[in-house]
Amino acid sequence: MKDTAKHQGLRNQLVSVLEQKGITDKNVLAAIKKIPRHLFLNSSFEDYAYQDKAFPIGAGQTISQPYTVAYQSQLLEVEKDHKVLEIGTGSGYQTAVLCTMGAKVYSVERQNELFKTTSLLLPKLGIRPKHLSFGDGYKGLPNFAPFDSIIVTAGAPMIPKPLMAQLKIGGRLVIPVGGENEAQIMTLLIRKSETQFEKHELGNFRFVPLLENKN
Ligand code: SAH
Repeated sequence: MKDTAKHQGLRNQLVSVLEQKGITDKNVLAAIKKIPRHLFLNSSFEDYAYQDKAFPIGAGQTISQPYTVAYQSQLLEVEKDHKVLEIGTGSGYQTAVLCTMGAKVYSVERQNELFKTTSLLLPKLGIRPKHLSFGDGYKGLPNFAPFDSIIVTAGAPMIPKPLMAQLKIGGRLVIPVGGENEAQIMTLLIRKSETQFEKHELGNFRFVPLLENKN
């Protein structure tokens, strides 16, 4: 597990690409500059790790494209010590970005293989989420609620009600909404009161599906 000056150079280039694509949150850019994305991928992808692309991570899943990670992270408006719930831990890269931004991260993954690999990897890289769990993210994590923000990293056919219920007032939920065979619309919900949510639809993305009641 090596991180070299060459990798750092490639990361600096990736950060420039993300800035050109419109990412402005300094906290997000600093985290991406710091995190060795190549160590979250199978070594056969090492040479490509700093391209702005998604790659397979096993169990039929993908590590999100850096632009998508940056875009979703920026929408969360993370502040130090915010409690953030992530649905879809996957490779742990997005988790690492949020932890590096100063968030207390709670993350849920429903593929046991990925849950196990990522639970071992993150501490080796010095990344310490508050809580990693194996389970169905549709239900959120009621025992740890409420959250300052919630990020869903798989495409959902609709916004799960339990996630809305676990958001603080003033909190932000970022979720790609759409079916399996179509693009998903990045959706931002801001909780205005106990019962009111403000909804923003922000453009098309492509994610692997958020799966319910399946293994
Ligand atoms: N944040 C990850 C993205 C992984 S892709 C990364 O940067 O690597 C989406 C992840 O969501 C996959 O790992 C998939 O297994 C997981 N997933 C799908 N449905 C889920 C559900 N209902 N609950 C929790 N995780 C789910």
